[in-house]
Amino acid sequence: PLLPALQDVSGPTGRAASREAVRFGALSLSYGRLAAASDALAGRVAGAGRVAVWATPTAETVVAVVAALRAGVPAVPVNPRTGARELAHIVADSAPSVVLAGAADVLPAALAGLERLDVDTAAAAPAAAFPEPSPDSPALVVYTSGTTGPPKGAILPRRAIAASLDALEDAWRWTGDDVLVHALPLFHVHGLVLGVLGPLRRGGSVRHLGRFSVEGVTGELLSGGTMLFGVPTMYHRLAEALADPAGSPGLTEALAGARLLVSGSAALPVRDHERIAAATGRRVIERYGMTETLMNTGVRADGEARPGTVGPPLRGVGLRLVEEDGTVLEDPAAIGEIQVRGPNLFTGYLNRPDATAAALTEDGWFRTGDMATLDADGYVRIVGRKATDLIKSGGYKIGAGEIENALLDHPGVREAAVTGEPDTDLGERIVAWVVAAEPGSPPSAEDLAAHVTGLLAPHKRPRTVRYLDALPRNDLGKIMKRALGR
Ligand code: ATP
Ligand code: MG
Repeated sequence: PLLPALQDVSGPTGRAASREAVRFGALSLSYGRLAAASDALAGRVAGAGRVAVWATPTAETVVAVVAALRAGVPAVPVNPRTGARELAHIVADSAPSVVLAGAADVLPAALAGLERLDVDTAAAAPAAAFPEPSPDSPALVVYTSGTTGPPKGAILPRRAIAASLDALEDAWRWTGDDVLVHALPLFHVHGLVLGVLGPLRRGGSVRHLGRFSVEGVTGELLSGGTMLFGVPTMYHRLAEALADPAGSPGLTEALAGARLLVSGSAALPVRDHERIAAATGRRVIERYGMTETLMNTGVRADGEARPGTVGPPLRGVGLRLVEEDGTVLEDPAAIGEIQVRGPNLFTGYLNRPDATAAALTEDGWFRTGDMATLDADGYVRIVGRKATDLIKSGGYKIGAGEIENALLDHPGVREAAVTGEPDTDLGERIVAWVVAAEPGSPPSAEDLAAHVTGLLAPHKRPRTVRYLDALPRNDLGKIMKRALGR
């Protein structure tokens, strides 16, 4: 089964029934209560075609998703902050027959026409026997983040979720004793599959902060939390707080004492990695994945966390780098597109046979659209996305990430993004978008040029610097380079 720990609850041992499964603020659900509430709801959604879940960061969302999984009905988590147009697209595309929401949630017009079922975390039903759906049946339809285009619904079979979570268990020695500190949204695979289904599959616990805060992370890690899953913007805020002598009582001890600090969804800037390591003695480990493939690579719990790398392929995942014409790269130090294959893959995009066919090779490799090089020991070094982060300038292929890391190394730079713009001489010209550490007194273009001279080869140095008050980012803190003209 996908969630054995929850099935044990009503089974003969009942061992996990009193163990905390999830906690959101003051509301804590034990395995027993989660099983009872989700079984009660599963009985009501059984037979539905697809259910939309209004995915607020609450226990109701967990109950709703677990209920759909129990009933074998595909769940479509919906970002409550999605704009009206995108929401209308997602509803029309996924065509749910029911929407599951908390009783107090006010749903927008796009969802108002659907049958609504309120989630009751206190409900209980007589133990019903739900047959375990086949491993190939769809468990979730998760929409991609829309970083490079309109979001597409990735159909994730139970098999892919189980395989990816088991590969992470192997890499991270993840057990039912782990207590995950969580502050991510529940409508992407990072927060939902890794952050909720991961612990629930193991019989571990999740403590969700509702909203990320340095104090919240500190408090939970000091009171039993063993792991933290975050996105780079969170680790940036932790690094800033560590640097502020008055700012964060207990944070150093909290991070130093955690078993695992994991970052993903976007590249963790080397500077933030190094600052956290210097202050706490702990290195954040990176994993790399995407909606369509779940997790592909990850630094192992006992492995070396090398800044700027996302570790080796996870167990069961085949990974290769290919050239533009599809030939597999011989030279691992050359930049190629990552292709992956394994039991972790989705079955396709909903209603998009064209996009599905375009994303897969004939022999079943998924074209990630991410560009990387390989270290000698097989660690993957992501240089960025083919569509937005690969700059072709003066006959060179240049990844934006290395240049962004060099800019961030300047104390006057808080955030940096690098793009390419058409240039008659070079093909593309490297443009740096910079947010100053001190608002109002940004480092000058000359100052930045002098700074990167020591760090970057001449063809990688930005030709143009533009200043912004903040970079355009989405819910997961990913930089939306489309808004910067890419
Ligand atoms: P869309 O596919 O709609 O354009 P998206 O690719 O951002 O949006 P997701 O599936 O949520 O949607 O994100 C996966 C992408 O996130 C990966 O393809 C990769 O570019 C990036 N990513 C994830 N983890 C990492 C990481 N550790 N380092 C660098 N990039 C990462
Ligand atoms: Mg993508």
